[in-house]
Amino acid sequence: MFIGHHAAGFAAKRLAPRVSLGTLFAATNLLDLLWPLFLLMGLEHVRIDPGNTAYTPLDFYDYPYTHSLLNVMGWAVLAGTVHWLLRKSWRDATVVGAAVLSHWVLDFVTHRPDLPLWPGGPKVGLCLWNSVIGTIVVEVTLFVLCLWLYLRATTAIDRVGSIALWALVVFVGIIYIANSVSPPPPNARMIGYAGLAAWLFVPWGVWIDRHRRPRT
Ligand SMILES: [Zn+2]
Repeated sequence: MFIGHHAAGFAAKRLAPRVSLGTLFAATNLLDLLWPLFLLMGLEHVRIDPGNTAYTPLDFYDYPYTHSLLNVMGWAVLAGTVHWLLRKSWRDATVVGAAVLSHWVLDFVTHRPDLPLWPGGPKVGLCLWNSVIGTIVVEVTLFVLCLWLYLRATTAIDRVGSIALWALVVFVGIIYIANSVSPPPPNARMIGYAGLAAWLFVPWGVWIDRHRRPRT
């Protein structure tokens, strides 16, 4: 899942209005921020296997550190703890931790059974990716719904608050369409390098957040 994780970040803003959208994007995307790093370090592996599912040519056969449920719980606790140490709000820290966990839940819906419950443990996944139409309908619906929640929860302070947000929405949409129709990547290393681009959404979220405020 890709835009679904951004959707979760938008939705989380309603639950934790004081937490920056950048922090929330970092939390909901954390596993996919770490994943390219683990790939490039050679600790996790992916292979290109067109037809693996209808939607993606990638076979996520080895990613226990970033995507096993047990480790994800660890990442969630770690992220929540760091947030608590910095901001001293249990509620906000819980939302950040839950946002990290939401990534696994959304991946669980879309991935084929390739998500380990623990490193080396049984693998699960409901495989929405077997249906291209189903994937797009579910992800786009989720994104639009969560964006709507975010628009109701916040309001722009200045023009940048609108422009930065809508530019991100358009950018995410373009990447989503490009991902859905482009040919498989040439090799696994390229996936790692391209994956690093996901980090861009963290400062972008911070930028949006600085120009919007919670509605009261
Ligand atoms: Zn993921």
